[in-house]
Amino acid sequence: MGRCEVRVKVKLLEELQGIDLKIDGRQAEKDLLLEKVAGFDREIEEARLALDSLREEMTALRERKEESEQTLIVETDNIARSELRLHDIKTQKEYQAVLKEVSTAKKVKTDLEELLLASIGESEVLQGKIAEGEQNLAALNGNIALRKGEVEKQLKCLEAEIVADQSQRDATTAGLGAPLLNRYGMLREKRQGIAVVEARDGSCLGCNMNIPPQMYNNLYKGLELIVCPHCQRILYIRRQEETAA
Ligand SMILES: [Zn+2]
Repeated sequence: MGRCEVRVKVKLLEELQGIDLKIDGRQAEKDLLLEKVAGFDREIEEARLALDSLREEMTALRERKEESEQTLIVETDNIARSELRLHDIKTQKEYQAVLKEVSTAKKVKTDLEELLLASIGESEVLQGKIAEGEQNLAALNGNIALRKGEVEKQLKCLEAEIVADQSQRDATTAGLGAPLLNRYGMLREKRQGIAVVEARDGSCLGCNMNIPPQMYNNLYKGLELIVCPHCQRILYIRRQEETAA
């Protein structure tokens, strides 16, 4: 590379580094927003699951109630039949046995009636909770739709910015050869995204280590591509004419 070519390439690399950091920043912002959207979806899912489980509880309660009602009918029949039989019984022993049957059945019946009464109360409480859950879910859906809309707008904006950055990046990389670009890419991966750094006052601003004076001189001359001997990042220098401009 000639002197002019080296300067141009280093300038392009410096620009590329700036663009890539900008893209990295926007990408991180985008990831945060996507996480936010996922959080909204989770919030709704949780509310929906809670409501579903209340509804399932209600179905189970209704089934238990119907079962109790059926048993109650059977027990009531049994009592009536046993009481009828009492009229035809001849022996005292048999009479006592049927009487015992009746009293047991009556006890079962009372218990069932208690149970049914309790289940009516339970079902009212549950119905209230379900209504509340439905209201919450509807409110949450509305609220989250609004917030999600906001975030999606921000996302669209970011994506458009990234597309613009990308085309700026393409224009910049067009002036750099594949070997240099590969080297840049590898350095970015190994050095926390920073492959090109400024050298100032004799040190590399990437790792803050001193650069040997001869190397610093060469860097100043701009005859060849200089990398930091400590962190291997590609170095550039701001010349007086640039800082003044
Ligand atoms: Zn360094």
